[in-house]
Amino acid sequence: MAQVQRMSRLMVKTLRDDPADAETLNHKLLVRAGYVRRTAAGIWTWLPLGKKVYENIARVVREEMDAIGGQEVLLPALLPKEPYEASGRYEEYGDLLFRLKDRKGADYLLGPTHEEIFTQVVKDQCSSYKDLPVILYQIQTKYRDEARPRAGVLRGREFQMKDSYSFDTTDEGLAESYALHRGAYQRIFERLGLDYRIVSAVAGAMGGSKSEEFLAPAPAGEDTFVDCPACDYAANTEAVTFALAPVDGSAHGPAEELDTPDTPTIETLAEHLGVPASATLKNLLVKVDGEIVAVGVPGDREVDLGKLGEHLAPAEVELVTAEDFEGRDDLVRGYVGPQGLDKVRYIADPRVAPGTAWITGANKQDKHVKNVVCGRDFEVDDYLDVVVVEAGDPCPNCGTGLKLDRAIEIGHIFQLGRKYADTFQLDVLGKEGKPVRVTMGSYGIGVSRAVAALAEQTADDKGLCWPKEVAPADVHVVAAGKALQTELALDVAEKLGAAGARVLVDDRAGVSPGVKFTDAELIGVPQILVAGRRSAEGIVELKDRRTGEREELSVEEAVARLT
Ligand code: ATP
Ligand code: MG
Ligand code: MG
Ligand code: MG
Repeated sequence: MAQVQRMSRLMVKTLRDDPADAETLNHKLLVRAGYVRRTAAGIWTWLPLGKKVYENIARVVREEMDAIGGQEVLLPALLPKEPYEASGRYEEYGDLLFRLKDRKGADYLLGPTHEEIFTQVVKDQCSSYKDLPVILYQIQTKYRDEARPRAGVLRGREFQMKDSYSFDTTDEGLAESYALHRGAYQRIFERLGLDYRIVSAVAGAMGGSKSEEFLAPAPAGEDTFVDCPACDYAANTEAVTFALAPVDGSAHGPAEELDTPDTPTIETLAEHLGVPASATLKNLLVKVDGEIVAVGVPGDREVDLGKLGEHLAPAEVELVTAEDFEGRDDLVRGYVGPQGLDKVRYIADPRVAPGTAWITGANKQDKHVKNVVCGRDFEVDDYLDVVVVEAGDPCPNCGTGLKLDRAIEIGHIFQLGRKYADTFQLDVLGKEGKPVRVTMGSYGIGVSRAVAALAEQTADDKGLCWPKEVAPADVHVVAAGKALQTELALDVAEKLGAAGARVLVDDRAGVSPGVKFTDAELIGVPQILVAGRRSAEGIVELKDRRTGEREELSVEEAVARLT
């Protein structure tokens, strides 16, 4: 028998008003409907209803991962720094990493993703080509000190990810493991009822070659992608494949090197510029240890030197100053990237002519730079031929006008190749008795983020509105009246439960039918069954949460319909 959950015993406190700090739909509704509770910035508590939705998603993910032969494991979240130092990511991740020390002073981190540790596990457990291929996965808590934890569970600093890793001896094997994951992801998102696109992506900090993202179109999303209405071309704007011609810097002059003492500080920088250390500046681009950390250029963005301070000392500072932008005020704008100071992205203003341009990552409606990834594609001294991709631009495959949209990244799959295997010398004994270097893939799904993405895509003006597979219950029975209605509601709930349905029954005494209806719509169970006016006759009203369609049924008909 499936569970019958009485509202009178359920820990849920619905709110009429949006929380003051909530900007996105999922954040407002998940808090108002009592699914999650904020513990600290980007750190969330899952309340009973939220936990049910979360577990439903995790179950679908597990079933489909098991179906491709994935083996579930559970790695620690608290990790020694050495493996991440070996791969270079202890440094590379910068401020994104939560770092801590144990009582003896040894360095640890909270895992942001687990390529290093999985590589070590397989090195320890597998020794022959006969042990491969292997796909390992976990659903586990990840930690990233995101610069802007926002939008509720959409971008947490602690969040739940399904991460899996494939290990093969050949490139063909890797391609197959990748294809298996791609298929599993399609089935997962299909079953969850998410509207999604698969788009080409850049590998970023993971390294490796081929990579695709699963994007769920939604206005709250932080990614922008182009989509061809005529063929299957779709790409994150970070990865749009147009040729990018480097332009010589003659139009701008070289970057001005800051002549500083050994350990330049924010004061050195301010002094050099002749401004107070607390100044907010435009016309400034700052590079630290070869990484662009901040851009302030004519237009609407500024660099707050005070905030930059901790990032500068004792790093190396180079400056590109106002001269570089002279006469181009109308063309150029930029800002400190959404990923934090260590990752600045650039987008071009649509008015920028090819051959100009520094611009950044605030994805604007209908525009984004083509094929520019800071660090990969250019250094601070390169002056780029930045081309803007706009809605209506021709598709590189077929020439049809591209669509451009915002989306939430719900999954990401990578062919990593041998990057981590090289780092940890992960070999197995091959058929010919010689060691063979293993090739890897890594694959992520934001399980907690998927809750937010689903809420974003399915909610309406009344509240949440879950697809059946993930809903916290199949039916929400409402006792709309007094003892008679409550008795019928509990009776039908019992019968539904006995027939296998997951039931939430609003049996709360002293709560008006109006409040119960409002709560039922806010909570978003797909079917609402009301014991109301005709309870004496044993007639209940079935209401479809999404369409609002109503139908009067006998208890027996209702049970038959809903199970
Ligand atoms: P984003 O671009 O949104 O920061 P990412 O590219 O850094 O995500 P990956 O390293 O590819 O993320 O991680 C795999 C998946 O984990 C992502 O596709 C996303 O669904 C999820 N994820 C990543 N960061 C977060 C976060 N801060 N909160 C919730 N889910 C996240
Ligand atoms: Mg990220
Ligand atoms: Mg991403
Ligand atoms: Mg990603």
